[in-house]
Amino acid sequence: MSESLATAVAAETTNHPSARIRRFLDTHRPPTPCLVLDLDVVEHNYRRLRAAMPDARIFYAVKANPHPDVVRLLVGLGACFDVASTGEIDLCLAQGAAPETISYGNTIKKAADIAYAYARGVRLFVLDSAQDVAHLAEHAPGASVFCRVLVEADGARTPFGRKFGCAPEMAIELLRDAGERGLDVRGVSFHVGSQHVDPSAWELGIARAAQVAAAGVPVHLVNLGGGFPSTYTEEVPALTEYAAAVERALDRHFPDRPDLIIEPGRALVGDAGMIRSEVVLVSRKSVEDPHRWVYLDIGRYNGMAECEGEAIAYRLRTTHDGGPDGPVVVAGPTCDGDDVLYQRTAYRLPLALAAGDHVDIPCTGAYTASYSSVSFNGFPPLSTHVIGAKQI
Ligand SMILES: *Cc1c(COP(=O)(O)O)cnc(C)c1O
Repeated sequence: MSESLATAVAAETTNHPSARIRRFLDTHRPPTPCLVLDLDVVEHNYRRLRAAMPDARIFYAVKANPHPDVVRLLVGLGACFDVASTGEIDLCLAQGAAPETISYGNTIKKAADIAYAYARGVRLFVLDSAQDVAHLAEHAPGASVFCRVLVEADGARTPFGRKFGCAPEMAIELLRDAGERGLDVRGVSFHVGSQHVDPSAWELGIARAAQVAAAGVPVHLVNLGGGFPSTYTEEVPALTEYAAAVERALDRHFPDRPDLIIEPGRALVGDAGMIRSEVVLVSRKSVEDPHRWVYLDIGRYNGMAECEGEAIAYRLRTTHDGGPDGPVVVAGPTCDGDDVLYQRTAYRLPLALAAGDHVDIPCTGAYTASYSSVSFNGFPPLSTHVIGAKQI
């Protein structure tokens, strides 16, 4: 097996992230399933995003991959952080982030969590409700705030639905109220939904921010959120197309250019990671059924949460690739009927695939380890190994 893996590695350019990760996996042979994360790729992605959108301050959405080494690397590169909880605040501070570089980006928070964040020095908060305005005025006096507006844009592979944000008319009221209560009103944020494949989606959010500004509310800042894609099985537009779409929308809607923030998660860490899993079982439900069921040692609960609804179609690589293949249903190892990765999405895997073979899953640095359960059904959370020039 390691021979054919070596061939597969040689077939890729040597600087390809997954080639380096495969070398690590083949040398160290850690138990599967595991995620290997290449910090040099995170750094590369950070610099690429900076170059594509030089005017925007980058706040890394910590939930995408909260590994302390990722946070420390990004602190060193001058990034800021979008956090959702007191736990993520502590994590960032412990890795050397200054409190002024942290934005409390979750609109759903307890008064006690606001007070905690404020006590730790956090001074930038998002809100989308009257309750939050009151809590922030009381527990984070004088802090800077922005309001999240609702943007329902088709084209996100994992949409946020209507959970966060409010209508622009309500944002105007909330921000006026916030200003009257002594909070420092900075502007508006939105998130078009994660893995967004249509750059024009950002225009709607920018137009809504402009609508708030037109009502006389200070909009010094527009927070463009995340949504910038990683490469799974479908083609995605280049980062420069997203930057161009944002520029066009700003030109159209904002006579005075606001400061910009972006909050990338997936785009920074997604393709920096690869999961190695092992085939536990290959079987059929009946002799006539052309579909084989391929059960892996990784599933929805120990890393592949984004297979819910088959939202994200990951690439699957095996050492038998190139040989004859056939249709498969891909499932996880637990005794849970929902622990199926792909049954509607047409996947084919080599006929030679058998128990004990590895299945490598590139582009799994985002929303995998951070989503894995503590020990559902006795399967431990996904372990992470970090590589990169500084590590090896
Ligand atoms: C999750 C999240 C992000 C990151 O989204 P990606 O699509 O991974 O870039 C950014 N901002 C907020 C507020 C989030 O909740």
